[in-house]
Amino acid sequence: MSADPLTDFSRLCVHTITTKGWELEEAVDHYAEVGISGITVWRQWLDRRNASQAGDRIRAAGLEVVSLCRGGFYPAVEEKARKESILDNQRAIEDAATLGAPLVVLVCGAVPGQSLEESRKQITDGIAATLPLAESVGIKLAIEPLHPMYADDRSAINSLASANDICDQLNHPLVGIAFDVYHLWWDPELEEQTRRTAEANRFFAYHVCDWMTPTHDLLNDRGLMGEGCIDLRGIRAMVEQNGFHGMIEVEVFSNRWWNKPTAEFLKAIQHAYLHHT
Ligand code: ZN
Repeated sequence: MSADPLTDFSRLCVHTITTKGWELEEAVDHYAEVGISGITVWRQWLDRRNASQAGDRIRAAGLEVVSLCRGGFYPAVEEKARKESILDNQRAIEDAATLGAPLVVLVCGAVPGQSLEESRKQITDGIAATLPLAESVGIKLAIEPLHPMYADDRSAINSLASANDICDQLNHPLVGIAFDVYHLWWDPELEEQTRRTAEANRFFAYHVCDWMTPTHDLLNDRGLMGEGCIDLRGIRAMVEQNGFHGMIEVEVFSNRWWNKPTAEFLKAIQHAYLHHT
């Protein structure tokens, strides 16, 4: 592995959804070819695939499986739907174990019209219900707090403090946090809550992209690092001071970039990783 910071991709991981135009095998081959070290697999990429063979294929190419994205979506008004969600999360945990991913990222869910407090209770109960399986296969679960603009229907956990509170309640070494700069960069408590996360040994994952001004689409207008207003270098230095030295995962949902050739996007990702992250 090169120590030259301008060619060092030993901590660069890319999410399969970022390079959405590629099937799993294409993504693996392209990442490996340019020296990218990690891959986070989104569950859709395991559809119609054998997860065990997919994991072998990834490792044979020299890549590390960093995580499986994503479980979660626990809250529902009906109990039946909440039970189905727990079954789905159990499938995600089993898939992660078969794939050889150490971690499942949780987008925890919310229900429009149901109180966020009730949703958080259902999330806590849902995670607790899947913990015995996670324990038996040794898979970590990372709560990903989402930006408050998603509090209606994607997650009732909207700050690092809130994620830490749920982790405190569950109080389990396999339950931690996925820190995504897109969701957390605005938080005045970021440093204090990062310290709390690190001290509890629950800083499990680090996702990067950038915040566009203006943002045209709440889901699919993320920027590539350096295109927006997030202090990526400052936040990275802060999380590293708190002891995080794991993979830096590029997770960009962008109709603008998805409309370009995927190989061109991957080149831009590498450049942005080296120069703006
Ligand atoms: Zn993320």
